[in-house]
Amino acid sequence: VPEGHTLHRLARSLNSAFAGQVIASSSPQGRFEDGAAIVDGMRLIGAEAWGKHLLVGFGRRRRTEHWVHVHLGLYGKFPVHNHDDDGPPEPRGALRWRLETTQVHADLRGPTACRVIDEAERDLLIGRLGPDLLRDDDEPGDRELMWERISRSRSPIGGLLMDQSVVAGVGNVYRAEVLFRAGIDPMRPGRALSRHEFDDLWSDMRVLLRAGLRSGRIITTRPEDRDQPKGRVRREDAHYVYRRAGEPCRLCGSGVSVATFQGRNLFWCPSCQG
Ligand SMILES: [Zn+2]
Repeated sequence: VPEGHTLHRLARSLNSAFAGQVIASSSPQGRFEDGAAIVDGMRLIGAEAWGKHLLVGFGRRRRTEHWVHVHLGLYGKFPVHNHDDDGPPEPRGALRWRLETTQVHADLRGPTACRVIDEAERDLLIGRLGPDLLRDDDEPGDRELMWERISRSRSPIGGLLMDQSVVAGVGNVYRAEVLFRAGIDPMRPGRALSRHEFDDLWSDMRVLLRAGLRSGRIITTRPEDRDQPKGRVRREDAHYVYRRAGEPCRLCGSGVSVATFQGRNLFWCPSCQG
């Protein structure tokens, strides 16, 4: 399931493959035919991520005239591949959008959103999102905005962290893991958090998200808490509670809990996060 760091990595890979180049755009599957035709033959000016949203800008010169808004949802994929002089492979299956140059192509499959929007619609979309801790242009004001939204809310912090208008880009794995690392019960109302707890949560989340952006993996355990402290982190050692229901907590040994909350699995340690 893509979380914010995946989208930022995707924006980077699209930029390094296509930015500044005139591209061919098509929708082999047909579901994005009209949109794909609008940007076909234009220059890809730049791709950017805002939380879990990807925005790809196109124009005839340097100015962006159209944005393609992509949301991968739970199952979407948008890999970039090199190809030889024969061009990309024949499109297969439900290929929503293909971008290509003479050297590279990117194939988008299974997104929940793929549409052409204008500048005003882009501003509206971004305006609805909370701060994205992975953006380089994040500001001190972002932290205050997030604190304001959390400290006024009666909703459980475990739900607030997944609310994209509170903070953009945090998904199920980061939600579970940052709350565990902070020792905070996911069901605690936002307004019951102290400023100090919030500040720690913010800093830790920023550190973890940025590490995910660098490595492409979500690793939240400290080496001393892993079964195998040295070497490459094994998948089963990467998390404290996420997908570890029933297994012993790495810190206290009691069983990790799971419950369905707002339609998603929520993992936590009832004893460390009391
Ligand atoms: Zn525990």
